[in-house]
Amino acid sequence: MRVSLEQAIAELKKGEVVAIPTETVYGLAADATNDAALKKIFAIKQRPVDHPLIVHIGDISQVTDWVTVFPEVAVRLAKAFWPGPFTLVLPAKSHVSRVVRGDEPTVALRVPSHPLALALLKQSGLSVAAPSANLFTQLSPTTAQHVEAGLGEAMPVLDGGACNVGIESTIVSVAANGQWQLLRPGMISEEDIAKIANVKLANVTASDEAAGDVDIDASQVTPKVPGQHALHYSPRTPLRLFNDRVTLNQACETFAEAHVTCVAMLIGKGDVPSCTAITLPDQPYKVAEQLYSTLHSLDAMKVDCLLVELPPHTPEWAAVFDRLSRAGHQ
Ligand code: AMP
Ligand code: MG
Repeated sequence: MRVSLEQAIAELKKGEVVAIPTETVYGLAADATNDAALKKIFAIKQRPVDHPLIVHIGDISQVTDWVTVFPEVAVRLAKAFWPGPFTLVLPAKSHVSRVVRGDEPTVALRVPSHPLALALLKQSGLSVAAPSANLFTQLSPTTAQHVEAGLGEAMPVLDGGACNVGIESTIVSVAANGQWQLLRPGMISEEDIAKIANVKLANVTASDEAAGDVDIDASQVTPKVPGQHALHYSPRTPLRLFNDRVTLNQACETFAEAHVTCVAMLIGKGDVPSCTAITLPDQPYKVAEQLYSTLHSLDAMKVDCLLVELPPHTPEWAAVFDRLSRAGHQ
């Protein structure tokens, strides 16, 4: 059920959930300070309660409402990549809901860049937790239609068109001493992050380091990575991954001989298999943008098997490679 921005805000203020557009994927949003509302997200998604949620905020100035420390490295990263597909995991203030942080000592924060998501956050004054608006482990939605197909027509959806990043945000944790760690690859690459985060490291002297040293819990230096399941982002149809086109095409022939129906997702030019195939351009940003919608379309063809060509295992393809590997995990 499509709703207006005003209706979406009214529902969220009543403690209801609403699917909202972001530039990454559609999120299932609820007021991040309302435990009863947050619990509805877990129930609808059938998501384990120890998988923490990302809190979407309207502006960098709100970070300190949520965290005990906003290390300089994290400030630089936030200024470089917000609004955008980038999430910071920082030590949480004690008042932050244990439901939203899945009982972790940290909280994940992001300022999204989708104009409707930003308008919702700014007009309502709310911060919203918003994991992908799909059932746990299934394909993420990148259109309002995907949300309705996955969660039902009764789900209120704020329609903001197709998501233009197309895959989930990059997640980086930053400990109180400024040490950072990539928790999930995304379209903001580890290299982009290192450029901003490490800019001053070469200039730090031994005495500076000592002065900046803070007594912190070791578990916060190397945080756990809750909720990063090997199986995730999966279509319903069984999916097989291929490192090269020749092997994919051979598999297609073998399936045809055995009367097993299949369709393929290909990346870039090359020989095509004899089955129906969708070819994506050989560019990481374009593949990310179209990845889930392509898999949704192939899934809807109701064949026995999806044949998917993996991109090269190189840094610019890291996020797409990660999502496809998880989608194809047996
Ligand atoms: P999503 O599944 O896209 O909603 O992203 C949420 C993911 O962010 C979780 O599954 C975790 O991997 C990560 N995350 C969220 N909050 C935290 C947190 N407080 N500490 C560590 N990781 C977090
Ligand atoms: Mg998800």
